[in-house]
Amino acid sequence: MTSVPYTTASVSSAPFSYSVAIVGGGIGGLTLALGLLKYPHIDVQIYESASSFGWIGAGVAIGPNGQRALELISPAAKAAFDKHATPNMWSSKAKNFAAYIVGKGERAGEVIMEAKNETGMQSVHRADFLDELVKAVPAERAHFKKCLQKIEDKDGSPIVMRFSDGTSVTADVVIGADGIHSNVRKYLLGTEAARPVFSGYVAYRGIINMDAAVEALGAEHAQNSTLICGPGKGAKPQLSNRSSAADIYSGQD
Ligand SMILES: Cc1cc2nc3c(=O)[nH]c(=O)nc-3n(C[C@H](O)[C@H](O)[C@H](O)COP(=O)(O)OP(=O)(O)OC[C@H]3O[C@@H](n4cnc5c(N)ncnc54)[C@H](O)[C@@H]3O)c2cc1C
Repeated sequence: MTSVPYTTASVSSAPFSYSVAIVGGGIGGLTLALGLLKYPHIDVQIYESASSFGWIGAGVAIGPNGQRALELISPAAKAAFDKHATPNMWSSKAKNFAAYIVGKGERAGEVIMEAKNETGMQSVHRADFLDELVKAVPAERAHFKKCLQKIEDKDGSPIVMRFSDGTSVTADVVIGADGIHSNVRKYLLGTEAARPVFSGYVAYRGIINMDAAVEALGAEHAQNSTLICGPGKGAKPQLSNRSSAADIYSGQD
């Protein structure tokens, strides 16, 4: 894509010396926007195909390495996570990332391993996390119902993005944060190379309240991070602070 002269906030006096368009306003796009907003010389704009920022799914866990990365990208993004992060409920399990237990057969319930780290398992409900990220992004930086269809990039000219509503905008830099079926990736790699490949793994997810989780799994495994291992399959209860819910995933991983 068009090369952009390297500038930093400390050497640039004029605001908006170049423009960055982020395609997609999921966790990736919003976090990136928050990181770039620190630099007054970058005009960062988000183009999202949906009519508002939205979320699919339930819990999202972020380990200590991911939390450190969030802090480095943007303290506001880390604060968004911290506000709703739900840790293990037992203080004795505070540093447990997961207890791996046998799910089936004679040894069912046996703990094979307890993985520990500096934060233990911490997860948030996606809606809560996204809501906090959205609050930190100025409204005028977000443009909705802008489904990117086509990119035109000629040397020496700004990049043109064409949207399905017939409108177009230009930017010096375009960053794809448009998910697994990314049109930006298709533009860069070609449609075939960008096509996602089914890995053979399937995840089934559901949300149940904590009382039901405790009844099904016992308090220790419902209230603390656990990975229930079976032959070719696993289940992972994931805590969320929403209505004392525990997200239960099961899948082939
Ligand atoms: C079952 C499951 C569990 C997971 N658990 C975890 C976990 O515990 N921890 C973790 O770190 N990760 C987890 N992940 C992975 C994580 O959810 C994803 O990596 C992350 O959500 C990707 O965010 P994103 O912003 O890149 O993309 P997305 O969230 O997919 O956002 C893409 C955005 O781009 C928009 N968009 C799409 N096409 C266009 C277009 N043409 N023009 C404009 N906008 C467009 C979409 O509307 C959407 O808002 C999990 C994934 C799954 C499936």
